[in-house]
Amino acid sequence: MQFSLTEEQSAIQETALAFAKERLAPHTLEWDEKAHFPVDVIRETAALGMAAIYVPDTIGGSGLSRLDGALIMEALSYGCPAVSAYISIHNMVAWMVGKYGTPEQVKAWMPKLASMEWLSSYGLTEPGAGSDAVALKTTARKQGDHYVLDGTKQFISGAGATDFYFIFARTGGEGADGISAFAVMKDTPGLSFGPNEKKMGWNAQPTRQVIMDNCRVPVNALIGGFEGRGFRFAMSGLDGGRINIGACSLGPAAFAIDKARDYMFERKAFGKNLAEFQVLQFKLADMATNLEAGRMMIYRAADAMDRADPQASMYSAMGKRFATDVGFEIVNEALQIHGGYGYLKDYGMEKLVRDLRVHQILEGTNEIMRVVISRKLLSGNRG
Ligand SMILES: Cc1cc2nc3c(=O)[nH]c(=O)nc-3n(C[C@H](O)[C@H](O)[C@H](O)COP(=O)(O)OP(=O)(O)OC[C@H]3O[C@@H](n4cnc5c(N)ncnc54)[C@H](O)[C@@H]3O)c2cc1C
Repeated sequence: MQFSLTEEQSAIQETALAFAKERLAPHTLEWDEKAHFPVDVIRETAALGMAAIYVPDTIGGSGLSRLDGALIMEALSYGCPAVSAYISIHNMVAWMVGKYGTPEQVKAWMPKLASMEWLSSYGLTEPGAGSDAVALKTTARKQGDHYVLDGTKQFISGAGATDFYFIFARTGGEGADGISAFAVMKDTPGLSFGPNEKKMGWNAQPTRQVIMDNCRVPVNALIGGFEGRGFRFAMSGLDGGRINIGACSLGPAAFAIDKARDYMFERKAFGKNLAEFQVLQFKLADMATNLEAGRMMIYRAADAMDRADPQASMYSAMGKRFATDVGFEIVNEALQIHGGYGYLKDYGMEKLVRDLRVHQILEGTNEIMRVVISRKLLSGNRG
């Protein structure tokens, strides 16, 4: 067991952190305020190899590991969690295309995904199917050399601004085996979008319904060329997505701890710096301890995925649940240390609280993480 980063991993982490500090952090409050999706800045990450991170280099990806990916997401989220979380979703789609696409699909689509010429979205959730994603009702009916898609996807990150939609739809009967996956391009007739949802946080990326009404895609848009495999793709994509969303809670937690520590030296109360109050020192100590525990769990889950450990899904669920919970608690405590100023937009703490709240809900709610973990345990896995 080794607990230190390799030289290459340290370099990757430094590159991502420098980008976060220079290109994301200075604008994050403005993007939130204006609900601006900074696609140009997002596209800059492709040049750094962060658009198809763990896609093999033999097919046009960066050929890095899941652990490298988690380090990148953690570092980017230090600058802006809403942007890093979108980049995580794009990477999930790129990976699914690389892993499950036919050689022709990979050849045609990967260069555009890895360069971010195409930004992508992941369309699983529906108005009536969230946690219970198997209940999805969008249909894809084969007609000659086309599939016709009908249905509505809910809460789709990036939708309306992105180019490539990885859509899950029912080609067969009820249950997971009736679900297939399709690539739907933005300009496909019959594809439209709902209004940008007004959200508590994550305002630097749009969230919209994706509506398919008699939306015709060619048969070669069926991912992998076979029907009935979509749900498996969706779940395996989410294992990695959960690690990344957990990682996207760690960077902001580290940022909030840095800010809170600095503030404790600036702010005086009762004739002393806040840093002199032991209760606040202990609060900071607990925040840093929880952050470190979250890091260990996320890195461990990523490493398990890299080694194809059969327990990887469980570690991923544990890491997501824990890191997103402690991440939220840490930024909320950092707000508290800032007192009334923490509640003001200028200090950036209230934005982090709003942004990180949704990490406990999406990519599987933290209740669903407990369902995944307890299922594994009850089926005989050792704790
Ligand atoms: C900002 C945002 C962006 C999103 N982006 C995407 C995206 O890009 N693509 C995509 O496909 N989806 C996306 N989602 C959807 C997200 O994954 C779902 O919201 C999430 O899976 C929960 O589904 P739901 O909202 O329908 O809640 P529900 O499934 O209705 O759950 C409601 C509550 O019941 C609890 N619950 C449900 N079932 C159980 C159970 N068996 N045991 C215990 N508790 C349970 C849940 O934990 C939750 O607290 C996004 C959501 C948001 C808010």
